[in-house]
Amino acid sequence: MEGLEGLRRTFRSGRTRGVDWRKSQLLALVKFLDENEAQILEALEQDLGKHPVEAYRDEIGFLKKSAEHSLQHIKKWMAPKKGQLPLLLFPSRAEILPEPLGTVLIIGSWNFPCSLTLDPLIGAISAGNTVVIKPSELAPACSSLLCRTIPCYLDSEAIKIIEGGSDVAEQLLQHPWDKIFFTGSPRVGRIIMSAAAKHLTPVTLELGGKCPVILDSFSDSDFKVAVKRISSGKWGSCAGQACIGIDYLLVQQKFASLLVESLKSCIKRFYGENVEKLQNICRIVNKQHFDRICKFLEEPGVAASIVYGGSINRETLMIEPTILLDPPLDSQIMTEEIFGPLLPIITLDDIEESIDFINARPKPLTIYAFTKNGKLKEQILQETSSGSVVINDTLIQFICDGLPFGGVGASGFGRYHGKYSFDTFSHEKPVMHRTFFLELEARHPPWNEFKMDF
Ligand code: NAD
Repeated sequence: MEGLEGLRRTFRSGRTRGVDWRKSQLLALVKFLDENEAQILEALEQDLGKHPVEAYRDEIGFLKKSAEHSLQHIKKWMAPKKGQLPLLLFPSRAEILPEPLGTVLIIGSWNFPCSLTLDPLIGAISAGNTVVIKPSELAPACSSLLCRTIPCYLDSEAIKIIEGGSDVAEQLLQHPWDKIFFTGSPRVGRIIMSAAAKHLTPVTLELGGKCPVILDSFSDSDFKVAVKRISSGKWGSCAGQACIGIDYLLVQQKFASLLVESLKSCIKRFYGENVEKLQNICRIVNKQHFDRICKFLEEPGVAASIVYGGSINRETLMIEPTILLDPPLDSQIMTEEIFGPLLPIITLDDIEESIDFINARPKPLTIYAFTKNGKLKEQILQETSSGSVVINDTLIQFICDGLPFGGVGASGFGRYHGKYSFDTFSHEKPVMHRTFFLELEARHPPWNEFKMDF
């Protein structure tokens, strides 16, 4: 790759290791976000029809918060930590020194085209690496904006943005990176991992899957809040095209009709009715994904389960928020990640059955549970496995710098955000300092009977 040797040279020069360089790049990133706010919002509108409020919240605001958090803590993160040693090794001292990995590759997805490339970048810069970013070709306005504008702000001898599709990504994967940070589908995640294996390159895979919501019984007022949070979590962030978006909902049979009615009125209030008049909701990214989502609805058993919505417009790439009640469990909508504005509701006799339901499927990125029942909460925490769990809300875990974000099992591995991003792009190097004082002869040959007497 053209320029890769230059990035390695920059890294070897030691320039990116100093705290001043790291801070200057983070400040420059904040400046980029401030000075290009209008262009970023415009690009997100072009690529996905993102409303400026949603776009600011999920991308610009999110990134500024993340960069500012790193700026505030970076010096502490970089400081060596004291290592614990056994008394036997007295006198000696140990420290754990975080060192940057080197030259790293970040491959992003299209649904949050700025956040999912620049937030890992914040971690990579904070840890002192040189970086190549390949944004997704499916959000071309954002990809092109980043490629044109970022070099005007950041150190272009240390940070490069390369545009292109899978062919470009495949070429990039031929190189011996010091780390690959990938956000995308499990299918491509496998390709990344096998390419990385050739060079023993460590990888972080931020993948997807089917995130369930468990909805328990509630008082009226709590139920209303839960329905609002579910509606926002399903349709309010990239129209359901979000890795931690709600995929399906589990509820007791006896609450199903109340839930459907409440969701319907919430959808009408938040997004409007009918596909031609929708507002405050993103469109589907392209025709291929539009057709993929619509195909879910074409399966006979699935079409019959639609209880709200279902209207589509292929010209405008809009799909109405759609609710399905008990679609067949072996249909594609229940076996594949939906990644769109369709919400299947699965009814159960007993809410505790949700544990077995979830455990019968690949480990999700997140489980959302609306409940005040301590026993159910404990069961969810102890008897299921997922990247994260959120009780009584949706999606907000993504903005918490203090919490690790990442998957487990089929939803990926590795984690980032805040200090966890710094750690993801660092090697924690243990260093021991010894003196020449007090030599313990027993550790050296010749071995004799006296030394055997332990
Ligand atoms: P994708 O896997 O199709 O593409 C992701 C990136 O990989 C793009 O930059 C693309 O150019 C590149 N790519 C595509 N084919 C490739 C190949 N053969 N070799 C190398 N690189 C290749 O995913 P997507 O459609 O962009 O995103 C949707 C998926 O990503 C969903 O599964 C979603 O859940 C997941 N996702 C996960 C997170 C997370 O943080 N865990 C965030 C967003 C999206």
